[in-house]
This record gives sequence, C-alpha cells and structure tokens, in this order.
Amino acid sequence: MKLEEAIVSIPDCVFSKDADLTKYTTMKLYSRGDLVEVQNVEALQKLLPLLTTHKKKYLVVGWGANQILPAVCDDLIIHLDFSFDTSYLDKLREEYILPASLGLNHLTAHAVKYGLKGWEVFTGIPASLGGAIYMNAGTNLGEIGSLVKKVSIVSRDGSLREEMITRDSFSYRHNHFLREGEVIVGATLIHQGTEPAVSQKIKDYLEYRKKTQPLTTKNCGCVFKNPHKDLQAGRLIDLMGLKGLTLGGLKVSAKHANFIENSGNSNWDQFESLVSIIKSNMNCFYGIEFELEVKIPYH
Ligand SMILES: Cc1cc2nc3c(=O)[nH]c(=O)nc-3n(C[C@H](O)[C@H](O)[C@H](O)COP(=O)(O)OP(=O)(O)OC[C@H]3O[C@@H](n4cnc5c(N)ncnc54)[C@H](O)[C@@H]3O)c2cc1C
Repeated sequence: MKLEEAIVSIPDCVFSKDADLTKYTTMKLYSRGDLVEVQNVEALQKLLPLLTTHKKKYLVVGWGANQILPAVCDDLIIHLDFSFDTSYLDKLREEYILPASLGLNHLTAHAVKYGLKGWEVFTGIPASLGGAIYMNAGTNLGEIGSLVKKVSIVSRDGSLREEMITRDSFSYRHNHFLREGEVIVGATLIHQGTEPAVSQKIKDYLEYRKKTQPLTTKNCGCVFKNPHKDLQAGRLIDLMGLKGLTLGGLKVSAKHANFIENSGNSNWDQFESLVSIIKSNMNCFYGIEFELEVKIPYH
C-alpha cells in the first residue's frame, strides 16, 4: 500500500495533500505541504512507525509560534488536535494531566481563577503545551520546566513512554529528554499551592507584555536567543539601530527589536535574508554569534 493510502486508513488521522500551511504558524509566511491532523494518541502510535518504515521525515507543529515553515515543505507536517473537555479545568487540582495540544491560554485562565503559584511563569506565551515543554518556554518570571512532573511521549516505533522530570531535564529554551522523532503527547503539571496575589501578578504581566511586545502582528516571537541572561538580544539589535529595518514585507519590530513582523506579503527567502543581515551585524560589531531561538527546518 502506498504511504498516503496507509495514512488515510489510520482512524483519527486526517490527511491533507499539498495543504496550505500558512495558518499553521503565527508568522504566516506562505507555505504548502502535506499535513496530518492527529486526533488521539493511538492514531499517533500507528502513524509514527508507518512513517519510520517508509523513511518519511516529519515535523511536529504546535501553535507554530516559534517556527518558520519554508514555501514548500518536503517533510510531512504533523499537527496534534487531541480533544479535551475544558470542564477538567473547572476545579482546583493537586496535579493536572493534560494533552500536548492544549493551549497555554486555558492554563493561564485557570491560574488567574485560583491564583496558582508557579503558573505565572508562562503568562502570555502563545503555545501548545507540547511546544512549550519542547522549548522550555518561559518569561522573566521563570520557565515552564519548573512545573512539569511527567511527560508522555510517543516514540518512532509507536511505543508510549513516560519521562519523569528531574532538575537536569531542562535548560534555557531546551529539553534534554526528547529523542529524535519523538512526539510529546501529554504532561502532568504541578503547582506550588494557591495565593490570591498570583492572579493580579498574571494580569499585570499580561498588560506589561502588551506594552512591550507586538502581540497583535504576525510574528514568531523572539527570533534570537539572548546571548546571556543579562544580555538581551533585542537590546543589542536596538543599540545597533536596526529597529524598524525592513526587507520586503518584513520589519524589525519598533516595539521589540528581537521580533520580526510580517505585513502579509513576505516569504521564507526574505526572512532568511533579514536574519542573516542581523546576524552579520551582531558578529561584526559585538563579536557575538547570535543563535536562533525560532526553529527553521532545513536551516
Ligand atoms: C507574540 C509571541 C510572543 C512570544 N513570547 C514568548 C515568551 O515570552 N517566551 C517564550 O519562551 N517563547 C515565546 N514565544 C515563542 C513561542 O510562543 C514558544 O516558543 C512556544 O513554546 C512555542 O510553542 P508552539 O506550540 O507554538 O510550538 P511550535 O512553534 O509549533 O514548535 C516549536 C518546536 O517544538 C516542537 N514541538 C511542538 N510541539 C511538539 C510536540 N507535541 N512534541 C514534540 N515536539 C514538538 C516543534 O517541532 C518545534 O521544534 C512567543 C511567540 C510569539 C509569536
């Protein structure tokens, strides 16, 4: 059986050939490719070994808030779309068993309701839970890794494994436990009790983010990692006078220089060019090799 026919025959895998992938990233650069929407863990357990047997490369896209996809994707794009009854978040729990496709916005709303200590660390980060754990997403209030007790993972052979999290499981914007081809399907999150002041802290931080980041434009969050925790990439780009620099429909954000905004008519080549201009400027003037935070497949 041909690979595509085999994928279509898996229950709860929805396959689209040559799909428009533009809406699958927050940057919204035009992109096309084959896509599978996977609706539950069992379907993913059938899909991954099939792709492995056929030597077909694949790429997981969560909210696409930290990814740029090329105009034509050769890899199969996997998007998790697990069902979740949000009434699970109607009550306070000691720990939370959650699907990877759940948006962090649901968790922030829950944290505001109960004043969950610790959960302020991911305030305002646009992400699926799986993407946030993969990236160890965080703010200057902390990182999501500090709240993760256990991660459920499907391996390339379709087996389901559970990773117990330790203090060595994460570092800055990085996890140390996911092996090649593995996909996070869920996680158990903990908190540090409740405190009413946390609700206000989250609301204030959301306001602060609105003022300091271009949250309403098409972008992919911070393009570069901070070279050091006290050395902000955005500040360095700003000092170089690169704020507002444009290339085609792309612009270094006037609000936060580590963000690149897409006015809607831009492509992958322009993004790569603008990134290299910034990188070479940083290298020439500061002697710093800027590292990408955004994931660019085939880069
Ligand atoms: C306006 C804006 C503000 C942002 N602010 C912040 C911020 O303050 N702090 C911060 O840390 N980030 C920030 N980001 C970046 C982004 O929100 C985070 O990196 C987030 O964790 C990405 O999650 P995602 O679901 O969109 O993952 P994606 O961007 O879709 O994927 C990111 C990486 O994770 C992998 N991945 C995704 N899901 C899975 C899975 N289930 N299993 C295995 N691998 C997976 C992908 O293959 C990819 O390599 C911001 C982005 C935007 C657009």
